[in-house]
Amino acid sequence: MGLSTALTLAGKGVSVAVLEAAEIGWGASGRNNGIVAPGLKRDPWEVHKILGTENGDRLLRYSNDAPDVVFKLIDELAIDCDVNRNGWIQAAHSKRALPLIEKRVAQWQALGAAVDTIPADKVSAELGTDFYAGASRYDGGGSINPLAYVYGLAAAASVAGAAIFEQSPAEGIRREGGKWVVASTHGSVRCAQVVCCTNAYNDNVDSLRGTVIPLRTAQVASHPLPRDVAASILPGTAAASDTQRLLTSFRLTADNRLIMGGASATAGDHHDGLTKHLHKAARLRFSHIGDIPWDIGWSGYLALTTDHLPQILRVDDNFYAGIGCNGRGIAMATATGRSIAELICGQDEKDCSVPIRKPKRVFGYGMRRPGVALGVVYNRFLDTVDRLT
Ligand SMILES: Cc1cc2nc3c(=O)[nH]c(=O)nc-3n(C[C@H](O)[C@H](O)[C@H](O)COP(=O)(O)OP(=O)(O)OC[C@H]3O[C@@H](n4cnc5c(N)ncnc54)[C@H](O)[C@@H]3O)c2cc1C
Repeated sequence: MGLSTALTLAGKGVSVAVLEAAEIGWGASGRNNGIVAPGLKRDPWEVHKILGTENGDRLLRYSNDAPDVVFKLIDELAIDCDVNRNGWIQAAHSKRALPLIEKRVAQWQALGAAVDTIPADKVSAELGTDFYAGASRYDGGGSINPLAYVYGLAAAASVAGAAIFEQSPAEGIRREGGKWVVASTHGSVRCAQVVCCTNAYNDNVDSLRGTVIPLRTAQVASHPLPRDVAASILPGTAAASDTQRLLTSFRLTADNRLIMGGASATAGDHHDGLTKHLHKAARLRFSHIGDIPWDIGWSGYLALTTDHLPQILRVDDNFYAGIGCNGRGIAMATATGRSIAELICGQDEKDCSVPIRKPKRVFGYGMRRPGVALGVVYNRFLDTVDRLT
């Protein structure tokens, strides 16, 4: 989000400095599953209930168009990131989830989205597993190598004139003589406007601490699969995730590795307990891959907001933050970064498609670790009951 903001601003001739505490892509953007999915975590009817029909429709259409923003940027900037535009499949983990999928598809179709249910007799063949009861396909989705995408954005922002400083945490943000001063380890930046895009990694930023629930999820990548085995999984080369409460996603990389993501979560610091759920999830769905070695496992924090909607926070005058893509951040964070740049360049807040709010601490934030642990156990139980009944 930060790099998308910087790229847009630099392209408009605005002087921009990007401070990154670690290195480019160190946050969720370099660690995610790479699925470029349209839409939001919330369903259209839920979004209408929260935002009303007009603002709800605006955000829904924006989120549906967000993958296009990513794919067009990749084209325009010639970013080499294993881009795959063969759609995103959402699979129903149980018969109970089928009516939900059908309702979701109908509502997105009414908004003009390119989505349809996959006929029942084709579901297993399209996914390469008979684990699922049904599925829908969003043609506007796809997948990328996320870290390569972020490197591409950084290079383009830099060429456009943005100054990027790695290993440069913002350690304090204060007002001084009508300007903002952002202090960092090796110096400080005086600027007219500040944008904070620390998302789930915002615990070190005073004004944002506690505004989202950071949720750690893991990914595992297999050793490259034999060609015939790889061809049996998602043969149409779409990316997929499912309707489980503990969402599980899977896709193949350009070099035929199976990447599994999700299946569990923690608010803690380590993923040791998470990866075994992913190995099991792979066995349950793709038993024919056998005892394949899992070469790599990694994890990162995504940001949940309490209403599960992305938000732009007006922290103060001339100080915005973007938070909470709720696991749909490749497309939405890229698009939201652009929207923040438009606000900085004078766009009226009422014309912004992403809800703009004041920062608010999540109720019970201090109890998030036991809360998430309990939620994971409960949701795993519900997912299992769904599948067995
Ligand atoms: C394991 C995992 C899998 C996911 N899978 C998908 C997926 O398949 N598809 C999808 O759309 N979304 C997915 N997501 C969500 C998506 O990755 C995020 O929504 C998105 O990357 C958020 O981008 P961002 O730029 O807002 O934040 P981040 O990429 O998290 O960047 C925040 C940056 O802020 C920096 N920072 C923190 N504090 C400071 C400071 N004081 N000063 C300077 N810099 C600071 C951090 O170092 C970090 O680099 C996944 C997330 C995770 C964790």
